[in-house]
Amino acid sequence: MNLNYPITYIKGISVQRASLMYTELGIKTCNDLLNFFPNRYIDKTTFYAIKDLQPNSSEVQIVGKITRVKSVAQKRGSRLVATFQDATGSMELVWFKGQKWIKDALKINEPYVVYGKLNHYNGNFSIPHPELELVVEYKKKLQTKMQPVYPSTERLVNSGVSNKLMRTYVQHLLQQFFEVITETLSQEIIDNFKLMSKRDALLNAHFPKSQENLAKAQNRLKFEELFFIQLQLLRKKLINKTKIKGFVFENVSDYFNTFYKDHLPFNLTNAQKRVLKEIRKDVASGAHMNRLLQGDVGSGKTIAALLTMLMAIDNGYQATIMAPTEILATQHYHAISEMLKDMDINVDLLTGSVRVKKRREIHANLEDGTLHILIGTHALLEDKVKFKNLGIAIIDEQHRFGVAQRAKLWTKNILPPHILVMTATPIPRTLAMSVYGDLDISVIDELPPGRKEVKTVHRYDSNRLAVFKFMRDEIEKGRQVYVVYPLIQESEAMDYKDLMDGYESISRDFPTPKYQISIVHGKMKPADKEHEMQRFVKGETQIMVATTVIEVGVNVPNASVMIIESSERFGLSQLHQLRGRVGRGGDQSYCILLSSYKLSEEGKTRLKTMVDTTDGFKIAEVDLKLRGPGNLMGTQQSGVLNLKIADVVKDSKILVAARNTAISVLQEDSNLSQPANINIKKAYVELSKNSKIWSEIS
Ligand code: ADP
Ligand code: MG
Repeated sequence: MNLNYPITYIKGISVQRASLMYTELGIKTCNDLLNFFPNRYIDKTTFYAIKDLQPNSSEVQIVGKITRVKSVAQKRGSRLVATFQDATGSMELVWFKGQKWIKDALKINEPYVVYGKLNHYNGNFSIPHPELELVVEYKKKLQTKMQPVYPSTERLVNSGVSNKLMRTYVQHLLQQFFEVITETLSQEIIDNFKLMSKRDALLNAHFPKSQENLAKAQNRLKFEELFFIQLQLLRKKLINKTKIKGFVFENVSDYFNTFYKDHLPFNLTNAQKRVLKEIRKDVASGAHMNRLLQGDVGSGKTIAALLTMLMAIDNGYQATIMAPTEILATQHYHAISEMLKDMDINVDLLTGSVRVKKRREIHANLEDGTLHILIGTHALLEDKVKFKNLGIAIIDEQHRFGVAQRAKLWTKNILPPHILVMTATPIPRTLAMSVYGDLDISVIDELPPGRKEVKTVHRYDSNRLAVFKFMRDEIEKGRQVYVVYPLIQESEAMDYKDLMDGYESISRDFPTPKYQISIVHGKMKPADKEHEMQRFVKGETQIMVATTVIEVGVNVPNASVMIIESSERFGLSQLHQLRGRVGRGGDQSYCILLSSYKLSEEGKTRLKTMVDTTDGFKIAEVDLKLRGPGNLMGTQQSGVLNLKIADVVKDSKILVAARNTAISVLQEDSNLSQPANINIKKAYVELSKNSKIWSEIS
């Protein structure tokens, strides 16, 4: 008997029920059910005093007396209201149904135990349709303490799988299988953190003896869950380091040094230097580099990427950069070709809109090695694209790519190229630990000197004329302006209408020939987009009206005003990205967030956050709190966040402890072969068999 048995082995669960529980809740094995935790508990261990009730208390239990009962007329029919008092205060009990019968049954001035869901209205507390029991009766019975309430679905309930039945199933499960539940942590860890044993923890997570026991049980299970995820991630990293050989870029020579001495357009910031040292150390080590480079928008990741590529070329390897959009790939191509123009290095661009003839040329030059650097979009992933010897693959704005796409670049070589993924979406530390726990992380935490903080204001649509005046003044000074419209879904006709209406209204207020306007949106052909973009880059147009296609990476230092229309419809990280398009030159830059008066609480928080700070990490923390980890930077794809009991945001302290513990376990016993770690090893092997984590993290 083991926990991998299907739940039909549990007393009372028929084949039909089992299949229903599988389709509705994904529960198949005993282990699944054991790890299917209640989302709340009906707490009958605590008695509240009326004066201690809080508006956010949910179910409460109170001892007191009913002093008065009356019928109160309301719109339709009436309700029965009882005044209920204890020594500390008074509240109401309310019934809408069965009033007559209840009224007759209620005993005045006798002590009752009252239990129910607390309502709070106008400073008064009440419980509708409470459970009532005379204290004398209550004392005769043995009380069940805390009752679990399991997540459920309508279909389950309609098919007769009530919460009560679920409770019975879990009870049977615990009775039948208790002996085969084995400890998964080492004694040392249990002692160190004073953790509950695995059996007690499971028992108390389902049927807690007290609030205190519940807290201990949850703490233990969260620790365990996070510990094993970290163990997997860290082992994967370890294996990558020791088992997967990487190309060795032994020399830093001509290309790198010449560029650094003669062609570097500015001095690197200390953060850029530090990051390059970290990368240099990796690629010279003989191990395979798998590194995440985080740096806020405008922190100068591109130059770090270029210098890294030069390390590869110095050692006879090719290099590639993959970007999420054509605009961005094209921009990288122009910027990098420009910086390398006096050097003997061949750079080319491959995107979906490159013609067949040019494409063939690129394929040929790649295969015979005459092409050193290839920059492109997803088009790089096509099978026809074969490198002679790809030494490093750099993935820009990596949150835009799926995990599968990342992995695909690997298969382009026999040996995997070194991988550097770059992202401007700052990831809070704890989340990075969970999602990218298998990568090394470098951070450019310093902006190039002389940047002035972008001044950000929030204005309502009714102030548009003042905003237009401001635009005119800035254009007068020689600056350029972005006006961005939300495009939530590329197909939404409504959004296009907003965009085109906006374009027309701006055209009216900023007439030709004095003013020239570019427009870029997702429905345009890539070549047209590029043409419009270039007009703006060259300064031929002063205003760029666009959808979020310009969100990532676009670099026009002379643009100093970012106007975001309907800004309440954008997410925080998008707003931050958009604002990052300005403030790239030496001039004071501005970001104006336009919105309607109608704002949700969340919308208000987002706009206020943008006005209050330009720190990407702070913004990411707020975003994480508002939206939860599942919505950040494509983490939906990450099985790592499919947690059963822990929460990477709320349980960040436990996460840090779990990660540190996993690190120290692996430091002493990387193969988990010591007798002291036997429990861990068994659980680890079992988890690896069942978990999708291995396949889901590239
Ligand atoms: P991001 O990190 O957002 O990709 P970029 O690499 O596009 O940022 O750099 C933003 C701008 O800052 C570019 O115009 C770039 O030339 C400039 N830049 C980068 N590093 C420095 C530096 N050390 N000193 C001055 N300007 C820099
Ligand atoms: Mg960039």
